[in-house]
Amino acid sequence: MIRIEPEPWAAMVAHARRAYPNECCGAMLGGSEDGAKTVREAMVLENAFAGAQAARYELRPEDLLAADRAARARKMDLIGIYHSHPDCDAYFSTTDLQNSCPWYSFVVLSIQKGEFHHANSWLPNVEQTAAAKEELIY
Ligand SMILES: [Zn+2]
Repeated sequence: MIRIEPEPWAAMVAHARRAYPNECCGAMLGGSEDGAKTVREAMVLENAFAGAQAARYELRPEDLLAADRAARARKMDLIGIYHSHPDCDAYFSTTDLQNSCPWYSFVVLSIQKGEFHHANSWLPNVEQTAAAKEELIY
């Protein structure tokens, strides 16, 4: 279960709408207790994909590392990554799976015609062959 507090959630939705029709991406900082994760802060990261960004995002390893350091400096952890799917459902694509890692929650925001539509959180397995849907509260 992952719960996103109102402030980071508003920031994530605003970021996803701003990036439309491209994909946006960012880091989710917070903590976890008894298997329940709480996102307390959203950090905007640059979509570093060199090609068309309407259906693709890429994170720089150094940006992720910086997000991890920022989290620790604020006594939080980097608990997940979010990105948007412009005019597309909030599913976890094969590319998303290939670029995933099993220790993060991956929140996907579906933005339809520039407006927020729905979101899902995904937990990829270690083999990066499948992702299970995680209960998401926002
Ligand atoms: Zn995706």
